[in-house]
Amino acid sequence: MNTRFLEKEYDYVKPATLDEALDILAEKENVKVLAGGTDLIVKLKTDALEDMDIMMDINSIDELCGCCINADGDLVIGATAKISHLEKNDDIKAAYPALSEAMHAMASVSVRNMATMGGNFMNASPVADTAGPAMCYGAQVCLKSKKGERTIDATEFFLKPGVTAAEDDELLTGFVIPKPADNTGAAFVKIGRVKSDIAKVSITAVMEREGDTVKSCRLAMGSVAPKPLFLADIGAGLEGQKMTEELIMKTADQIRDFVKPIGDHGTTAEYRKEMSGLIARDCLMEAWKRSGGELA
Ligand SMILES: Cc1cc2nc3c(=O)[nH]c(=O)nc-3n(C[C@H](O)[C@H](O)[C@H](O)COP(=O)(O)OP(=O)(O)OC[C@H]3O[C@@H](n4cnc5c(N)ncnc54)[C@H](O)[C@@H]3O)c2cc1C
Repeated sequence: MNTRFLEKEYDYVKPATLDEALDILAEKENVKVLAGGTDLIVKLKTDALEDMDIMMDINSIDELCGCCINADGDLVIGATAKISHLEKNDDIKAAYPALSEAMHAMASVSVRNMATMGGNFMNASPVADTAGPAMCYGAQVCLKSKKGERTIDATEFFLKPGVTAAEDDELLTGFVIPKPADNTGAAFVKIGRVKSDIAKVSITAVMEREGDTVKSCRLAMGSVAPKPLFLADIGAGLEGQKMTEELIMKTADQIRDFVKPIGDHGTTAEYRKEMSGLIARDCLMEAWKRSGGELA
């Protein structure tokens, strides 16, 4: 296959307003949204996009491009904000370090200059690097169509590989991510073949500390299940427990035993399982340390 040519014919539209974009999604069939194109164009070139008649570029819609802290102190990320801008954003670095780290760990600079968090979510790959931090920070995914708008908790957004809870006529407009509580520490750890590669396995931890005790803990992993995996019960199991090195080792073993990854692209399921435990240990230690905690 010669991937230099786009053999498929399609119409290209570039609405200037959100209303116009929602009209197109409501009225036309087989519309695919173009944000950064780093997944979409690859699929187009590898013939994996048979059902696209219209490519709708959303990059001229002003309402979608921003990133700010709103009046409640929550982080708002627009659907077309580029990963390379977000990873360098000082508010995100300071208050959401796991998200900033995940964005920095994605792909190469040139890909990150194009790619968006909205595209990462809508592509719904089990490896999606921004999914874990978003789930652990309690992000809400904002969707809009001609019928109205709604938000979905990031932990409920992914259904299976390539499939999300968004409807065909809905545009992902952005994310609202609550301000983390004081004494929260977070970390993202990823293992890939090389720095710019997709994850062989990744983990996020967001932990709130009260003295020497875990007040709350949210954990998520990438590349160990058919969709980004939120480890609700294992995280909740840490709540109210005094943090020790032994507790971290026990939790890391629990995570290793719990996940059921598959082997693919030269990575065996056994490797993913073993590494899950190791990166869980490192991630939990770092998150606890960043919350201001010490290890007994
Ligand atoms: C070389 C390379 C390396 C990569 N490495 C990584 C990596 O390390 N980690 C990682 O997670 N990913 C990686 N990716 C995948 C990709 O870069 C990310 O998933 C990226 O975030 C996709 O964003 P995008 O804006 O380019 O999406 P696009 O390609 O524009 O869109 C992706 C999908 O989402 C839909 N879509 C996009 N925006 C919206 C919206 N607002 N509303 C509704 N639907 C929408 C599109 O129609 C398409 O189906 C890599 C890709 C490449 C080519």
